[in-house]
Order: sequence, then C-alpha cells, then structure tokens
Amino acid sequence: MASESLIQKLEATIENIPDFPKPRIQFKDITPVFLNPKLYEEVIDDLAEFSRGKVDVVCGIESRGFLFGIALAVKLDIPFVLIRKKGKLPPPFISQKYDLEYGSSEIEMKADQLKTGQRVLIHDDLLATGGTTEAAARLVEKQGAIVSQFSFLIGLDFLNGEEKLRPFNAEVYKILSY
Ligand code: AMP
Repeated sequence: MASESLIQKLEATIENIPDFPKPRIQFKDITPVFLNPKLYEEVIDDLAEFSRGKVDVVCGIESRGFLFGIALAVKLDIPFVLIRKKGKLPPPFISQKYDLEYGSSEIEMKADQLKTGQRVLIHDDLLATGGTTEAAARLVEKQGAIVSQFSFLIGLDFLNGEEKLRPFNAEVYKILSY
C-alpha cells in the first residue's frame, strides 16, 4: 500500500545499528524520521490510509508506538489508548504477562478506556517476535473490544511475529518488511 517513494525514503532514513543492544541484534533506529517532518507526515498519512473507517480506537505500545500512534489517532479523529510497561499507570488498570527470550515481562492498560465492541488498531514501530504485540492484543480482548488491525513501520519477517498475531484474525500492515 505504501508508495515506492515512501518505502525508499524510509529505508534511506532508518538506521541499522549492528550488535545493539546485544550481539547479533541489528537495531532499527527510527529516530532520524523525526528530523524530517515531511517524511513523518507521509508515514502518518500512509498509516491513516490503512486504518481510516476501519477502527474506533488506536492503542499504542510503549514507547515507540506512542511516537506515531498519537499523531495517527489525531489524524483519524479517534481516541488513543496507551499500553504501558508495568508500574507506570495509576489504577484502575489491567495487566498481561508475556514471555521474553529470557524471563518474562508485563504490560498494562487503563481498565476504563476501551468499550465493549470497539474496533481497535494496535500500533507499534516494529514487529519482531510478536510477543509484545500478542500481549497487547490480549489486553484489548480482556476488555471486550475487538482487535481489528495491527500496524507497524517495520516488520522483521524472518522472526515470524505474524504467526502470533494470526489467532486474532486481524489485518496486519507493515510499511517496510525485512
Ligand atoms: P517483539 O515483542 O519481539 O515483537 O518486540 C517488539 C518490540 O521490541 C518493539 O516495541 C520494538 O520497538 C522492539 N524491537 C525488537 N527488535 C528490535 C530491533 N531489531 N530494532 C528496534 N527495535 C526492536
């Protein structure tokens, strides 16, 4: 869906940092996108085109999912709900644990911000193994809302994260795939 020109500009802008934060991880640094407001706007427009008319709420995953998610929600004129790391939100909130390569982690969402039956877009900057996004989708379903779409700037397809998202039967969009 994204234009060839947007894909090329993003590929040229996002920086690949080898061996960060650990050996053998190639970190995708999206921060240079924020140096170019026109490009940022094109990203928001592209994400908005995917979701317009199809969702009632954007849920963004801490922290890089906030950077595009809020602007996207404003563009779509719909609410934005934060999915945060454990311990950041005041009550009432609900929690979801998920497994990491070593150990586990937990994310949280305010308990009173999604309504039953609302169609939700879950957004993050990058889909890797899908563990975080899957946990976010569980939080949404726990509230009786519907996971309708997932969107990302980047998908690391070789990590098969989309398999974890398949049970939610939602549309998945990535501007760039590796
Ligand atoms: P995962 O739960 O494995 O899909 O991890 C997704 C989260 O980790 C996203 O919020 C990303 O921002 C971050 N992440 C994972 N791998 C990378 C990477 N290679 N470069 C940048 N961010 C990453």
